[in-house]
Amino acid sequence: MYGRTRRFYRAQRRREEIRGYMGTLMWIVTVLCILIVAITMAFQTSKASKVIAAEAVTVDTSVLLDEKNVTDVAQAVTSGQMFITNKAQEQAMIEANRVIIIDPGHGGIDGGCVFGDIMEKEINRKIAYRVVQKLRIMGYNAQLARKGDQYIDKADRVDMANAQNARLYVSIHQNSCEIDSVAGIETWYDESDETSDSKRLAMLIQQETVKATGATGRELVSDPEMCVTSKSAMPACLIETGFLSNKKERENLSSAEYRDQIAEGIANGIDLYLNPKTMYLTFDDGPSEEYTDMVLDVLKEKNIKATFFVIGEYVRKYPETAKRIVDEGHTIGIHCDVHDYQQIYSSVDSYIEDFEKAYNTVYEITGVEAQFFRFPGGSVNAYNKTVYQDIITEMEARGFVYYDWNASLGDAAKNTASSEELIRNAVDTARGRREVVMLAHDRVDNTAYALEELIDALPEYRIEPLTMNVQPVHF
Ligand SMILES: [Zn+2]
Repeated sequence: MYGRTRRFYRAQRRREEIRGYMGTLMWIVTVLCILIVAITMAFQTSKASKVIAAEAVTVDTSVLLDEKNVTDVAQAVTSGQMFITNKAQEQAMIEANRVIIIDPGHGGIDGGCVFGDIMEKEINRKIAYRVVQKLRIMGYNAQLARKGDQYIDKADRVDMANAQNARLYVSIHQNSCEIDSVAGIETWYDESDETSDSKRLAMLIQQETVKATGATGRELVSDPEMCVTSKSAMPACLIETGFLSNKKERENLSSAEYRDQIAEGIANGIDLYLNPKTMYLTFDDGPSEEYTDMVLDVLKEKNIKATFFVIGEYVRKYPETAKRIVDEGHTIGIHCDVHDYQQIYSSVDSYIEDFEKAYNTVYEITGVEAQFFRFPGGSVNAYNKTVYQDIITEMEARGFVYYDWNASLGDAAKNTASSEELIRNAVDTARGRREVVMLAHDRVDNTAYALEELIDALPEYRIEPLTMNVQPVHF
């Protein structure tokens, strides 16, 4: 019995223990369930507000007010995902909601150019209507300067846009010429107003309408006398979408399908203007005696910041130029100390030794503790196949970030390429990607000469320096 009793008590104790465990387990499970439900609910109901709260802490007003963010915030606000939590977002929403005025040229008693029963005012109105429709689908606040077939003086239209504090003003017209073979798309803007950025708007609208239609792109024309472009307080341009005097274009413009292509191009141009792609312009192998300063002059004039992967040897030789790079707000990274592939890539140790020399030089001369580097010849090349992985591991362990490139001027391969060739290479290799890391060299003469034109040739890109927030591009 005794034995049985002990066994019994043992069994009972065991049962009690198990019950105790079960009780604790139930508690844990219950608490976990409550936690999971609470987290899920919190996540679902405040996904957007959490984003905003996080941004409110880390993002400054200037970032929130940039065009891309403005559009994102506006779209989120209109779709009800976000609520306004501070002044910066309120301002961003106001900015994003500012109206884009699409102006169908002429109207009422003013028919514009007329060929038979084809009237410019009607074609303008039909295209403008489609542009507004497309912009609204994209999430923009767009309005027509005239809705029906009414006469409104062009000065009054511009006054109205100014009074509304419009974001952009785009006027749509048709062209005419005594020589009936003349055809193509022509965009006008006022170059004298440098701050308005009207030229970039004109370039993008011209570029996108040519792309959408396959029509001939004529030259951009600057005319400081033109009413709609010079009297408007906001970026503005006027597009002549075709020549009614040209039989083929007259036929094209009479078709709804073609007018839709034009409208598509205008809307895309406006969208690219307000929501540009990003290009990180990077220069290797400098500083050089003559060309780095030329490059810096252009960047300064255009208020653009870039990234320079410098060579230690030349930083010691041209310390003032290296200092200028930093003083003018560009990012400085390490390329190498001496541009000698065989020596650098003979082992991990020799790579590190060369890198450290360049790093120390940059630090001593500019005070910058470089975070970024670029491998001479790129991260994988003919000289480093056996060691590149070990070098990358070692460099990343030390906390350095490297960038290769996904577009290039091709100015290292062939030093004799003309400026036109270099620009063509850059545009072709960028391939319209949303994020481009562009490789250039500030020791090549034609690169320095081509820089201004190159920047103009890629109007859909906003140029930024590399920062820790930029996703590295690797081969
Ligand atoms: Zn190089």
